[in-house]
Amino acid sequence: MTEPLVRATGVTKSFGHNKVLNGVDFEVRAGEVSCIIGPSGSGKSTFLRCINALETADAGGLEVAGSQVGYSLEGGSYRPWRDRDFAKFRAGIGMVFQRFNLYAHLDAAENVATSLVNVAKMDKVAARRRALEELDRVGLAAHAAKRPHQLSGGQQQRVAIARALAMDPTLMLFDEPTSALDPELVEEVLESMKALALGGMTMVVVTHEIGFAREVGDTLSFFDAGTIIESGAPDRVLSDASSPRTRAFLDKVL
Ligand code: ADP
Ligand code: MG
Repeated sequence: MTEPLVRATGVTKSFGHNKVLNGVDFEVRAGEVSCIIGPSGSGKSTFLRCINALETADAGGLEVAGSQVGYSLEGGSYRPWRDRDFAKFRAGIGMVFQRFNLYAHLDAAENVATSLVNVAKMDKVAARRRALEELDRVGLAAHAAKRPHQLSGGQQQRVAIARALAMDPTLMLFDEPTSALDPELVEEVLESMKALALGGMTMVVVTHEIGFAREVGDTLSFFDAGTIIESGAPDRVLSDASSPRTRAFLDKVL
């Protein structure tokens, strides 16, 4: 068995008095697709943001791609982790949000190329070539010169996926990537994600698309009030959830 790419043990996080993560245990191995479901406000987004160090956990262990995320021991006390490899760590984790967060004034190819130039320090010609390849991978080669407002929501989200993939991530995090889309646009985004999964990408996907979780997920975890109360093979969790809270949630979304 390979080492997990993400290993969380007892991760906690509060915002003021609001304890949002209350002891999260979670693992994903290289090449696995791990889906996360659960009610709004249960801490799913916060947990994803801890994985790529957009948030710092208060306590617990969080190891991501060989780095201890969250804390490092400095001068005898733990400090938020910010070592010199931080930028490299961050660049190795792609994140796709519910809102696509594209740059409105840039076309699709420029949206994909911009991090390659600014973060990966690629020269502009190479970055553009790479951007066009990534857009092709998500079926958008013909739309490279369009700005976000000229693209559908589904196309914009696929640009966001291409932009993340261009950085050659070892891990992709998806936070409800289809929740802001009109229903008829959901499938094209899920198809791009499925192709990525089949290509062997390690993915953590927060989603309410149960069909996707069942078909593509290796594991399905159910978040409730800041902890994972159920986790396992998607078919098992969906058909035979042991917790009444999981059952109640599934009865609503299925
Ligand atoms: P989910 O993604 O499951 O809907 P979130 O992780 O977004 O849940 O939020 C969990 C809780 O944390 C919510 O009560 C939310 O208001 C709170 N929260 C999230 N981010 C912040 C923040 N930056 N500051 C304060 N509270 C936050
Ligand atoms: Mg969320």
